[in-house]
Amino acid sequence: MKKPHISIVVPMYNESEVAETCYQRLKAVMEQYQEEFRHELIFVNDGSRDDTLSIIKALAKEDDCLRVINFARNFGHQIAVTAGIHRAAGDAVVVIDADMQDPPELIPEMVAQWKEGYHVVYGQRQKREGETWFKLATAKGFYRILNKMTEVVIPMDTGDFRLMDRKVVDVFKNMPERSRFIRGMVSWIGFKQKALLYERKERFAGESKYPLHKMLKLAADGILAFSGKPVEWIRNSGLVITGISKIMFFIWLILLILGDTSLLFYSGWHSVLGILIGTQLLAMGILGEYLLRVYDEVRNRPLYIIDEEIPAKKARTGPRD
Ligand code: UDP
Ligand code: MG
Repeated sequence: MKKPHISIVVPMYNESEVAETCYQRLKAVMEQYQEEFRHELIFVNDGSRDDTLSIIKALAKEDDCLRVINFARNFGHQIAVTAGIHRAAGDAVVVIDADMQDPPELIPEMVAQWKEGYHVVYGQRQKREGETWFKLATAKGFYRILNKMTEVVIPMDTGDFRLMDRKVVDVFKNMPERSRFIRGMVSWIGFKQKALLYERKERFAGESKYPLHKMLKLAADGILAFSGKPVEWIRNSGLVITGISKIMFFIWLILLILGDTSLLFYSGWHSVLGILIGTQLLAMGILGEYLLRVYDEVRNRPLYIIDEEIPAKKARTGPRD
């Protein structure tokens, strides 16, 4: 059988402190297994403002297996991974972070499982080192809530560190949505998927490029793209609140007929009013989030804009080649 070709996609945003080590660690693993598979590395520079681009360009000059995609600006982690997957030529594609929190030494294990017939092998975190309690608690809570809310089963404690077979990649390339929650999209695709348990390490240099607002955006994308539950909640609370209001209205009417108007001036009404207005605004906000995403889709702009590709290719934009 012909040697399989494995593409490794690495998104990078301000990773000048880790880019070179990342390359070396990946390369060491790939060279160790060169009898078993060929490889290409695709580094996607997601609009870094530091030296990431010049570092990876210099590396690419020396190594034909390294391809660089440079975005015109920062489009975010999920989009950077998407662009890498779109450009990957391999029989299987591995996605891994640049900071080596996910050990590249596990890739051969993923490849072995793939050869056994699994189409997706995803890393599932058994332990996470060096993360703040806040990140651990929110991530844990998020995956549990997400699973209660979605019909697609999205594995717990799983990031984007995974191997995907060409079949899965080809389906993925036909999913043009803009709000991308890749781990959910891949679960949705199906085929034979398998977890590979591992311990997530500390970032070996630099700081997290996922500030709270990016984490919240990812969480919202995950929930809103895979669940209609928030809309059901709005409908149900609307039903309950109108039901209660009707009962209250009748009580008020009866009291009025009986000549007791003291309830009219009952100060608790203010807080009731506050709750009602608050609930309405919250409901509108949730619906607005769905609407904004619909708006994003219908505008149909390209998912990302590529400034430069090395080795040089005709500049292309958008999800399809
Ligand atoms: N990343 C990116 N664009 C962004 C933010 C992050 O390409 O806007 C990359 C980053 O360089 C890294 C990966 O996504 O390779 C994961 O980011 P990070 O390690 O900072 O996230 P954390 O592990 O803290 O969740
Ligand atoms: Mg990280």
